[in-house]
Amino acid sequence: MSGKTLIIKFGGTSVGSAAAIAQAAEIVRDARKTWPQVVVVVSAMSGVTNALLEGAQAAARGEREQAGRIANQLKLQHLEAVNGLIESEIERIAILDRVGQRLQEFDSLCDALAVLGEATPRALDAVASLGERMSNHLVAGRLRQIGVSAEAVNAADVIRTDSVFQSAAPLMEITRQQAQGRLGGLLAEGAVPVVTGFIGATESGVITTLGRGASDYTAAILGDVLDGGEVWIYTDVDGVMTADPRVVPEARSLATLSYREMSELAYFGAKVLHPKSVTPIVERGIPLRIKNTFNPAHPGTLVLIESNGAHGALKGVTAIKQQSLITIEGRGMLGVPGIAARAFGAVARTRTSVPMISQASSEQSICFLVPDSSSEQALAQLRSEFERELARRDIEAIWAMSPVVIVTVVGAAMRSTPGVAGRVFSALGTAGINIIAIAQGSSECSISLVVDAKDADDAVRNIHALIE
Ligand code: ADP
Ligand code: ASP
Ligand code: MG
Repeated sequence: MSGKTLIIKFGGTSVGSAAAIAQAAEIVRDARKTWPQVVVVVSAMSGVTNALLEGAQAAARGEREQAGRIANQLKLQHLEAVNGLIESEIERIAILDRVGQRLQEFDSLCDALAVLGEATPRALDAVASLGERMSNHLVAGRLRQIGVSAEAVNAADVIRTDSVFQSAAPLMEITRQQAQGRLGGLLAEGAVPVVTGFIGATESGVITTLGRGASDYTAAILGDVLDGGEVWIYTDVDGVMTADPRVVPEARSLATLSYREMSELAYFGAKVLHPKSVTPIVERGIPLRIKNTFNPAHPGTLVLIESNGAHGALKGVTAIKQQSLITIEGRGMLGVPGIAARAFGAVARTRTSVPMISQASSEQSICFLVPDSSSEQALAQLRSEFERELARRDIEAIWAMSPVVIVTVVGAAMRSTPGVAGRVFSALGTAGINIIAIAQGSSECSISLVVDAKDADDAVRNIHALIE
């Protein structure tokens, strides 16, 4: 099946209404004209995953009626979509029956959460999975309606993961076997499998999720294990843009990017693609396109091994909000080996990942970022790890500054273009924005700056003005 298979993923807004799903189905029908085998990956309808999780949390807090209200809204949202999409009454009843079963499951899970009074990551994954397990039936039903043979598939039967709930990692070998069996079978019959994004299952069949926004990752995993020819991510903007268009209205879409640039943009906050999506396909060199469901004629963005240099040195600017800058400071740290290792060990115990590190050359302080939500826990671990050093005053203080934002500018050609960093710093200086910390990616493909949260959008706009 090598190279013959196209994987198309539709995000939440792309399946967010009957009209959107109808449009998505047309895109699939069109793609089938040039691709012999097409696999579709779908997100939940927009807002559904959030609503499900909100319901679960409410039930666990004892607000059971709130969860009931959410179930009713979800029922209406899906009912309206099915009625707008499917003409055959038999098909309509069958799909609504599936939706009803999932909502029943939601109800039972909420009852259990209300009794337990606590929502564990495992229970939250079971609840969060329900959105995709409804939308895949709507999309498959619509495809059949327009004459494309299609079957809804639950990724729990295909993607085997570890049991790290809410951020599970795929076990690729067994996933490859299961995908080639289950999806390969459907493809061989000429059908389009419509697979739930975002979810997988452990060896014993317990549902996991791959992380918020990870339907993109599902598409990339399937691209890898099915030896896909290309992966197309359909979303609600014209591909990857020079900045988040909600922050910078004049942001432009980029015709091409390298995997490395795409990866940095995604890692440092460009929500348009889940950061884990790049790795599975870069290793196989599978072309990745990001396109707009609502403007299908636009070519969108093509992500390739090497960027073709069509743009200037700077490609895009992104931001990660709600961060804390933790500083460990003290003259007694000078030349003492192992302080950084112990600091990161302490933070790792809180299962927090550190998106950025910056150490002053004097070795008298170490600074790094953690998400605001983990800052208290990280500080407590650090203070206990360095209790002795703090008592002896070798370390004078461990403290957090928040809220701060990481602003990152990305472009592979920065490496060969002198003075780029200087231009970025002086643009912020002229705008009167204080830079709190700086780090340069080892690949020299990105520069990250920490600024106060109140300056974040201004910093992004001022840096964006330097992009040619
Ligand atoms: P989907 O539901 O299709 O996965 P997402 O909401 O996850 O869509 O991602 C698309 C959104 O990402 C866009 O609507 C846009 O607001 C936002 N975004 C942030 N940064 C960028 C960027 N650099 N380029 C394009 N979109 C971006
Ligand atoms: N529905 C999931 C989420 O909202 C996954 C996705 O849309 O990519 O996080
Ligand atoms: Mg997304």
